Amino acid sequence: MSAMFEKIAVLGLGLIGSSICHGVKAQGLAKVVVGHAKSAETRKVALEIGLVSEVFENPADAVKGADLVILCAPVGACAALAAATGKYLREGAIFTDVGSVKGAIVRDCAPHLPLNVHFIPGHPIAGTEQSGPRSGFAELFHHRWCILTPVAGTDLAAIEKLTKFWEALGSNVDVMTADHHDLVLAITSHLPHLIAYNTVATAADLETVTDSEVIKYSASGFRDFTRIAASDPTMWRDVFLNNKEAVLEMLGRFTEELAVLQRAVRWGDGETLFNLFTRAREVRRGIIAAGQDTAAPNFGRDKS
Ligand code: NAP
Repeated sequence: MSAMFEKIAVLGLGLIGSSICHGVKAQGLAKVVVGHAKSAETRKVALEIGLVSEVFENPADAVKGADLVILCAPVGACAALAAATGKYLREGAIFTDVGSVKGAIVRDCAPHLPLNVHFIPGHPIAGTEQSGPRSGFAELFHHRWCILTPVAGTDLAAIEKLTKFWEALGSNVDVMTADHHDLVLAITSHLPHLIAYNTVATAADLETVTDSEVIKYSASGFRDFTRIAASDPTMWRDVFLNNKEAVLEMLGRFTEELAVLQRAVRWGDGETLFNLFTRAREVRRGIIAAGQDTAAPNFGRDKS
């Protein structure tokens, strides 16, 4: 594919930023890719492994002349990056991000951006529990959705160009409002992470079951929660600080459903349990049918 962009600036070179760099390189989507990261160590690694051709301590230096700028830092760091770079952006550039929350990004970044720049927030629904510049890989976005949440009135050609960019990285693209995104992701991603963190914390605090037993018998289900709960604490702290209302709404519904289950267990109501488990199984089958996970037993692991 011919280069879609002259110069891409990736601000934040962790799992998502480095995966974008690999994908851009693999597909030849830019003539030049430069980066910025907070720590000297990440900047050093980024050069060492060839994620970018140049890396800058000051984000303003990275964005100069770029026709695509992608914020790949934790949600809580994005406003400061927009503030630091806003006046150095090239006229007509696309300014986007990959943050897991969208309403707060629009609210906090937009005021810092000039009107001659196309601000199109985005969120690739792809990730692993790994983080840092060495964790990325070009295939991360393959067959995954990327959601764009442009505000009303955004230039259609710019949305189209960013859509093509994500498609070239292997994604399917959906467009929706930031508020709708935040509600959908609250149930599909944010609540499951909160539950996983809490499940692992509860097990860790148990006094009657030893730590070694928790680890020894983890294949019975606990292990899959620990994978989710191993996700980056900074990233997830910022998600819950910035998607408070939608998460509280989903948590409320979850708590009500949990009370139904609690009552069914207490009163030996097998029918309620069976019906709910059957509905849940259908959802899992739907995810596999949509190509969003493997049908292999035990997620394709060799042994349990
Ligand atoms: P990550 O691997 O922890 O990388 C974060 C990167 O941001 C690092 O390069 C870090 O620099 C940099 N950074 C942190 N604070 C910064 C600041 N104040 N100013 C500038 N750079 C800063 O995280 P990630 O998983 O790539 O997540 C990045 C974004 O993608 C987040 O907004 C997250 O919500 C979103 N996202 C994540 C996933 C996922 O599953 N992980 C999926 C979709 C979207 P140092 O290395 O120097 O600290």
